[in-house]
Amino acid sequence: MRRLQVSAEITLQAVSKVFPGGNAAVREVSLQIEAGEVFVVMGLSGSGKSTLLRMINGLIRPSSGAVVVREQPLDQLSSRNLQKLRRSAMAMVFQSFALFPNRNVLDNAAFGLEVAGVPRQERQAKAKQALERVGLGDQHERWPQQLSGGMQQRVGLARALALDPPILLMDEAFSALDPLIRRDMQTLLLALQSEQQRTIVFISHDLDEAIRIGDRIALMKDGQLLQCGTAQDLLQQPANPQVRHFFQDVDAASVLPVELIVDPTPPTLALPEGASRPDVQAIPKLSYVVDGQRRFHGVIAAEGGWIPASQAVHLLEGTLIREAMDQVAQTPYPTPVLDRDQRLLGVITPRRLLQALQQGCPC
Ligand code: ADP
Ligand code: MG
Repeated sequence: MRRLQVSAEITLQAVSKVFPGGNAAVREVSLQIEAGEVFVVMGLSGSGKSTLLRMINGLIRPSSGAVVVREQPLDQLSSRNLQKLRRSAMAMVFQSFALFPNRNVLDNAAFGLEVAGVPRQERQAKAKQALERVGLGDQHERWPQQLSGGMQQRVGLARALALDPPILLMDEAFSALDPLIRRDMQTLLLALQSEQQRTIVFISHDLDEAIRIGDRIALMKDGQLLQCGTAQDLLQQPANPQVRHFFQDVDAASVLPVELIVDPTPPTLALPEGASRPDVQAIPKLSYVVDGQRRFHGVIAAEGGWIPASQAVHLLEGTLIREAMDQVAQTPYPTPVLDRDQRLLGVITPRRLLQALQQGCPC
């Protein structure tokens, strides 16, 4: 097991929770959540997810083990300092939306700031900004009951964002929504995350959701952590048969990146030292032009002639196979896949992609 470092945003060290009556809701869970990641805690109902989350925000004290948030061990904080940390560092979004029916959208979004004692003008300005970010900039005066579930949860999200917390805790926040709306909310969350990275601990019992939004997934069962890793880790290297069972029906193309299915040895041509382009006349057949570090400079498409890298279609490593389909199908030459340093990892043909889709897990 990886050694725990308290420099992570959130660290759980052998955390257990036994409720009165002897029910062990969480058993010896150790994990680290890094700053800026979307960390999904996944598991069936009753597996201990909500209890885990409540131990992270200090609402429940572990029976044993330690929770460290932003380098502060929660069990060593006075209740005043714990409350201070909770208010300054964390905000929660609930499955039930938890909006006040007698407050309009703006006042609901400003509620957390009101509790924190922020003056009216400032909290309204921040709440307006947050509502803008969730697409409700023109709904300030409406009442919760006038809004659809999806819009209500946007208000719930705005209320959390208005606090501008480094950590967002979301307990089944999208579980009550219809599938399409739910997907919209996932998309919104990912968009918000790419604008400003927060540490998000997202509880879900839905594997598709976990895979879609999670940078990493912690899979829980009966209070125990079965495995923690990327969706790819859990799919390709399940730690035990229970993890394998969870992932058995997963669409591998939605989890695995394109670099796993490339042909790593396409025809390449070394760019002559000092040259900016190859001598196309001399090489009429398909070639990928690379330099000494295998950085991609362009492709000589069999019929189309020289296409420099700036105009050549390419995929970046990490792109999911499913997301690459259109591009691969429409590109008249096998699509090059590049790493972050522009190095050519290989190429993908529509045929290769189709095989990967048909076989489920290609690798
Ligand atoms: P999940 O969020 O994964 O559905 P929970 O953390 O809510 O799971 O619950 C885990 C287990 O702990 C369940 O068996 C639940 O009945 C039990 N549990 C949760 N809260 C309490 C409580 N306050 N008192 C007693 N048992 C509880
Ligand atoms: Mg729960």
